[in-house]
Amino acid sequence: MAISPRKAWGIIRSCVKPLGSVRKPLSDAFGHCLAQDVRADRDMPPADRSAMDGYAVGAADLTGFPCSLRLVGEVAAGSSATSEVPPGCCTSILTGANTPAGADTVVKIELTSLDGETVTIREPVKPFMNVRKRGEEARRGDVLLAAGMVLDPAAVGVCATVGLAGPKVRRRPRIALLCTGEELRDVSQSVKPHQTRNSNGPLMEAILAREGFDSVTHEIVPDDPKLTIDALRRATDAADMTILTGGVSVGKYDYVPDSVRAIGAKTRFYKIRMKPGKPVLYATRGRNSHIIGLPGNPVSVLTSMHVFVLPALRMLSGVSADDARPMLRLPLAGKVKSRSGRVYMALGRIVNKRSGPAVQPVGSMGSADIYAASFADGVLTVPASKTEMPAGEMVDFLPWRASL
Ligand code: AMP
Ligand code: MG
Repeated sequence: MAISPRKAWGIIRSCVKPLGSVRKPLSDAFGHCLAQDVRADRDMPPADRSAMDGYAVGAADLTGFPCSLRLVGEVAAGSSATSEVPPGCCTSILTGANTPAGADTVVKIELTSLDGETVTIREPVKPFMNVRKRGEEARRGDVLLAAGMVLDPAAVGVCATVGLAGPKVRRRPRIALLCTGEELRDVSQSVKPHQTRNSNGPLMEAILAREGFDSVTHEIVPDDPKLTIDALRRATDAADMTILTGGVSVGKYDYVPDSVRAIGAKTRFYKIRMKPGKPVLYATRGRNSHIIGLPGNPVSVLTSMHVFVLPALRMLSGVSADDARPMLRLPLAGKVKSRSGRVYMALGRIVNKRSGPAVQPVGSMGSADIYAASFADGVLTVPASKTEMPAGEMVDFLPWRASL
């Protein structure tokens, strides 16, 4: 029996478990989910450090202004600053350098003049200025990044700061794509009038590449029960997620539902009350291997990939169920009609109105209309109970990209 899209996602999220963890060199870790907490390996900053280019002085010497101090040396970022600043003296100091013993204040170079070995501070300066104190940002052992976070560029920078060259991250899923259809030809092949170019394969590869999923195999499978079973068995033996397109409906040559059963996989649901993409099938094989069968129409593939498949892949990668499908709530920029009585997943584009961002429905001729889909940047949800939603009404919008 067909179920609601909400129920379908509920079933998927209860079946998908995060994959195991591996250590990755930091240069390969970007985009992975952390499988460990990342802690400060030393105080941050590790010593009192200058935040300015100028002169390091003792606050006790800042009595009246202008005041003159004797220049006794220089500390640049990276120099170990072993010498001490005696009373009545200063050293030149550069941004990021440790303040030398005896100095607790940095005077900006712009407030001073230099004449031989004499530095004159022309304007009043407050004590202790322009020094970042040891441990001011974090103490050794503090958790800076928690397990479960996705390593974005800033988080990669944090790992480098604390000397974590090989963070423990979640393995990313291995993915197999099986495009079923007797009519299908690869993009590089010539096509006869009764044949169709396989657009779903490259479309899915691009969706997966945009999310950083790089372990993807792809093959075309003719409409043949034995070939479908063989391909499905091989795919699920090797992959964490097998995605099929086509052959999932009730037509004479739709072999996917029976093939799923034939390899011993457990069908968790078949058919969703949504448009497009009604005959979606979800099955599991073994502990954490997943099969999703999508209808062959390219727009159904585009929609279902974002509504169900990518969120499941993010969860396999270690993202929490709540973060795996980040819906936006936005006003409609134009009306949208629905006649299906099912939940309508309509293509939409984010436009910037004077009042802020809004979703403009993108006209589509039907579920084969991949051309219209190329103008969209996500899907909006029209509830099954509504035949029309006017401009201004709030809708759930799922952007193609998880982070805008
Ligand atoms: P099916 O779900 O197998 O009945 O296919 C539905 C429609 O989608 C048919 O018109 C197919 O030719 C088309 N189709 C199926 N697979 C693909 C594909 N990989 N690329 C482009 N069109 C496809
Ligand atoms: Mg087919």
